[in-house]
Amino acid sequence: MDRRMFCRTAVAAGVLTAMPVLSGCERKAPVATEADTSLAAVSLDGASIELERAAIRELGDAMTGPVILSGHPDYDSARTIWNGMHDKRPALIARCLSAEDASNAVAFARDNGVLTAVLGGGHSWPGKSVCDDGIVIDLSQMNAVNVDAEAQRARAQGGALLSGLDAAALGKGLVTTAGVVSHTGVGGYTLGGGFGRLNRKYGLTIDNVTGAEIVTADGTVRRISADEEPELFWAIRGGGGNFGVVTEFEYRLHPFERNIFSGNIVWPVDQARDVLEFYAEWSAGLSDEMYVGPNIATMPDGNRIIMVDVVYNGDPAAGEAELAPLRRIGTPMVDDVQLRDYSYLQTINDVPFGHGIRSYAKNGMVKEWTQGLVDTMIDADDPRVFVGNHVAGGAVKRVGELDTAFPHRNAEIMIVIAGGWMDPEQDDELIAACREYYRALEPHLGGYYDNIDFDGDEVPGNYGPNYARLRAIKGRYDPGNQFRLNSNIEPAEA
Ligand SMILES: Cc1cc2nc3c(=O)[nH]c(=O)nc-3n(C[C@H](O)[C@H](O)[C@H](O)COP(=O)(O)OP(=O)(O)OC[C@H]3O[C@@H](n4cnc5c(N)ncnc54)[C@H](O)[C@@H]3O)c2cc1C
Repeated sequence: MDRRMFCRTAVAAGVLTAMPVLSGCERKAPVATEADTSLAAVSLDGASIELERAAIRELGDAMTGPVILSGHPDYDSARTIWNGMHDKRPALIARCLSAEDASNAVAFARDNGVLTAVLGGGHSWPGKSVCDDGIVIDLSQMNAVNVDAEAQRARAQGGALLSGLDAAALGKGLVTTAGVVSHTGVGGYTLGGGFGRLNRKYGLTIDNVTGAEIVTADGTVRRISADEEPELFWAIRGGGGNFGVVTEFEYRLHPFERNIFSGNIVWPVDQARDVLEFYAEWSAGLSDEMYVGPNIATMPDGNRIIMVDVVYNGDPAAGEAELAPLRRIGTPMVDDVQLRDYSYLQTINDVPFGHGIRSYAKNGMVKEWTQGLVDTMIDADDPRVFVGNHVAGGAVKRVGELDTAFPHRNAEIMIVIAGGWMDPEQDDELIAACREYYRALEPHLGGYYDNIDFDGDEVPGNYGPNYARLRAIKGRYDPGNQFRLNSNIEPAEA
């Protein structure tokens, strides 16, 4: 699918289309000079404060990476994130090269009470990895991934991208669950849960995290795992960036045959009812190897289509046999499911989802396909809205809702409603169109995946039975709520 299709339709949660990179920001901020003794900033709760230049210089001296202020040649590129709707101007950007750098940046932020954002891969839909007038703790240069093939483990620095994780693992005949756009950061992606094409067999990405290194609000660099600080380790697997700056993740890897039976089957939208009604029944009995989910999108020529994304992680002949009944539904316009290199599949959406697109997304978990859901998807259909998905079930479902901080284990699929466009004039109209479609579907949804949600406005309820435990852990490791630019968990009082 190309970028025009995505634009016409709307974005897709880790699914479709292409966009040109937006041109640089035209707004100019005054450039601070050495003569200034302080720099205007905002506190954690938004009050105006002044940061002493001497303290900023001290931070710069302590760090191996640079401290970037407005006027620095890298300032604009460093503050630019994926979603073109966000144009934030931080007071300073602490570009970290090590866990010690991150620790120094956290200590500076805490001592000065300055609003703090943590930047991994920059794919936050609501733009929470940058901020106006605060500090950005920038991990983008901490992007190394190392694989120990014998131990079947990968270690990825907190600012690595999924492309780095996939490439390092596939190079050794191994893999773990990773999302469907390769320039997504491992940081926010993993901390929120991590849905990808292999999750029915291997679980969410958090189900494959075996340890991490994290800098907490007190500046301490901690190694955590099921044995070391297990509560904190539990919390980072689904609790987002609430607990500190994760400078390294360790992942379990699986032996993998990268030539994988995969592709798309596409029908005109007037066959959507047949496809969805069949899918609703058939998908309940699928093997863990089979990942297949329906998308509804508008083609560049204006035609609306329904398309399934198929990935079979196993013997291709078995995949063909399992897929056969779906292939017999209606009259597909395209059926290109065949053997493909998995790395091709994992990068196929990179251009369609290029940086700079303006985008809104919402999603909801579907526990069971019902006739009512199918009817609503068809009745409420809107050509401006992209309807995508991340398939769940399988190994995702076999983990208990209390076993990690991510609670939505009993869903069969996540339905994603998204929009993608380039013209700021369209912001209001296309956001409203997505919200309206979502409202129609809402009675059939239960809970949402925070990582693919622009609004993120129901944090306590969405964590359900895990929220009280998350609050207690937040209260212990970040009592001052230094890390609040995320789906924020209110720290419990000690
Ligand atoms: C085009 C696109 C495709 C996507 N595809 C998928 C997909 O296939 N599967 C899926 O599950 N999700 C997907 N997502 C959602 C994605 O998981 C989230 O947007 C995620 O937050 C991105 O992480 P990031 O590091 O790139 O983002 P950032 O914007 O850098 O950060 C997002 C949040 O995480 C925090 N954070 C980031 N890194 C760290 C760190 N190392 N330590 C502490 N906090 C940190 C930030 O402070 C911020 O609150 C996609 C998003 C986009 C835009």
